[in-house]
Amino acid sequence: MSAESPSNPDLSEYFRNSVDLLSVFKVDGNFGITNPAWQRVLGWNPEDLAGSAFIEFVHPDDVDRTRAESAAEWSGESPTRAGFENRLRCRDGTFRWIEWTSQRRGDLIYATGRDVTARNANIAELAANVDMTKALFEAAADLIVIVDRDLVIAQNSPRGQNFFGYDDDAAMGASVFRLMHPDDRPAVELALQRVFDESTDEIVSLRYRAQHADGHWMVVEARGHALGVERGQPTQAVFIARDLTDTIAAEAQLAESRETTRAILDAAIDSIIVIDRDLTILEASPGTGSLHGVVAEDRVGRKVDEMVNAADRQMVRDAFLTAFENDGAVSFRARMNHLEGHLVTIEVRGRTLLDSEGPATRLIAISRDISDSVAWEATLARSLAKTKAILDAAPDSIVVIDRDLVMIEASPGTERIYGFPKAERMGRRSLAIVHPDDIPFVTAELERMFAAESDESLSYRFRARHADGHWMIIETRGRLLDDEEGQPARAVLVSRDVTEAVAFEEALAAAKEEAERANAAKSEFMSRMSHELRTPLNSVLGFAQILQMELESKEDLELVEHVYKSGQHLLTLINEVLDISRVESGNIGLTTEPLLLQDLVLECLDIIAPQARERDVGIGYSDSFDYPVLADNLRLKQVILNLLSNAIKYNRSHGSVTLHCIVKKNHVRFSVSDTGYGIAPELRERLFIAFDRLDAEARGIEGTGLGLTLSKTLVEAMGGTLGFETVVDKGSTFWFELPISTISPGASVV
Ligand code: ADP
Repeated sequence: MSAESPSNPDLSEYFRNSVDLLSVFKVDGNFGITNPAWQRVLGWNPEDLAGSAFIEFVHPDDVDRTRAESAAEWSGESPTRAGFENRLRCRDGTFRWIEWTSQRRGDLIYATGRDVTARNANIAELAANVDMTKALFEAAADLIVIVDRDLVIAQNSPRGQNFFGYDDDAAMGASVFRLMHPDDRPAVELALQRVFDESTDEIVSLRYRAQHADGHWMVVEARGHALGVERGQPTQAVFIARDLTDTIAAEAQLAESRETTRAILDAAIDSIIVIDRDLTILEASPGTGSLHGVVAEDRVGRKVDEMVNAADRQMVRDAFLTAFENDGAVSFRARMNHLEGHLVTIEVRGRTLLDSEGPATRLIAISRDISDSVAWEATLARSLAKTKAILDAAPDSIVVIDRDLVMIEASPGTERIYGFPKAERMGRRSLAIVHPDDIPFVTAELERMFAAESDESLSYRFRARHADGHWMIIETRGRLLDDEEGQPARAVLVSRDVTEAVAFEEALAAAKEEAERANAAKSEFMSRMSHELRTPLNSVLGFAQILQMELESKEDLELVEHVYKSGQHLLTLINEVLDISRVESGNIGLTTEPLLLQDLVLECLDIIAPQARERDVGIGYSDSFDYPVLADNLRLKQVILNLLSNAIKYNRSHGSVTLHCIVKKNHVRFSVSDTGYGIAPELRERLFIAFDRLDAEARGIEGTGLGLTLSKTLVEAMGGTLGFETVVDKGSTFWFELPISTISPGASVV
């Protein structure tokens, strides 16, 4: 291109490599600058073209149209013209169809030509085969119209029905001229007639304005071809129409703001910059601004790394300097500091520009904002890293299997548990390590999970063989993976070696069984022992009573009395010890049933009356005991008797005992208050300790120290509570609460 290089040599890369014919035409219609595409597409080198008239290269049939187009361009009606097509002669004498986009700037026309020979050939082929290629016809995005000789629409492509905003019914049978701008009619009419009249194999290309149903004017480009030419006189023609309105409007708008030689650069959405060896920016396309917010003009003359984030600055400098050094290409990613404060990640590709001689002095770099994809990649990487960390750290084995139960993925924990190197088991059926006896149910479980395709997880245990041959018990929980649609079903299995846990569970169960057996043996021993002790004791007591009747001397009677009392005491002791041990071992055999508290209280008052009389303690009450409680008849009487007996025993002489009964929600509280000496604070916590009598023996009061312990245990066993309040020197109140029965006593339970 030498002397006639474009005025902005930085575009030479684009200019040199473009597949389109780039050219500048002078006002006399002669060629100015041309790019190498002319040689590649048509065979003409710049020397052939320079100074020649363009029209000499045009197909004779297209000369008139080309002149008209050229005149229109020079008249400057519209600054940018697109879609004009003509045929140009190649060096070898053949012709190729070229579609032009051109723009006039002062005394020059900048034109870009695209070889559309193949496309037009395709259209011709399509037209010829349109009867057969119905499907194609229907699928076409463009409007395809078949018109008859009277230019009346015979068929309309279904997709095209909204092309002009009218439906098929309205379009069918209508004239193509109906919607056309009156000024464009004559030219279109001529072109259409040519399709039929000349009966050539020619494609007629035309452009016209048409009014859309909504009123706006569209620019329509149509290419037409006669149908059935080879069968003689054509009766129909097919037209393929394209709506150019938007394209033209956009192009026109863009064109307004363009500098002549920078038109290409400006059109780029990407950032294109040219820098020199000092890394100073010589040229910057408007797209540059989007990377950092600084308008392109303000970047010219500044250093290329100025807006680069500090962390990447050195890397960027090195990359460019190395490219200059090697006279070669550069490619990297870097972060830019955007004026608005955020970071923009860009992908840069560039290469040095070929200068006439010596090392390259300039480099062209094209940058693209890839922040979105980088952010996405980073998020993905983070989540992958997290997942991997979890997998790596998990002590469990985590594997992913497919529907054929083949292992697709395995965590490092898998190796730890089974002792197999991961690689050895990958891609194999995951059942290889399962005990043969367990395979059927494991398979069934997994298949059920895949079949159900539900969110429910499964859980089972099986025996698996470790690499070293020993058998383990594995507990597995599984779940279908929530995959995107269309993905084959997969499941994740989380397994854990529970061999030791199972052994522990078994040992525990065995120990419990053992303890239960021992306890049963103890109870057995206790009841036998009590029986064995009570039989001789009863004869001791019996003989003592006989002796009491036989003997007369006061001394003897006192001795026998002593034997009798000691025997009685021993019998109570044995019974109570036995009861406590029975309650503790759960062998007391309580039968709770609805009981009328009143019946029990009156019965106990009867029994205790002699003891009260003996100590001259009066017992009184005013509350009603007419409540049904849920309790064991015998054991509740034992409790009431114990409380009454204590209230008498630990009372002062001529003291009194008062009974109370109140209802609290669904409980009944029964209390026994005495007028004794109360219990000292420091002794209170020892009240319920077995055999602890709080020094009562020192005061000569009979007892075993077991009564309260037993009473509390019994009440609790019946679902109640037992407690007390006491005031030193004033007396104590012992109470119990039991649930009120909802069934009346004596009523049939069934
Ligand atoms: P004991 O056979 O000695 O009566 P208990 O278990 O019934 O055994 O009572 C334990 C101890 O609690 C008694 O020895 C006595 O010192 C004290 N005690 C029980 N009831 C009363 C009471 N109503 N007033 C004062 N002290 C009491």
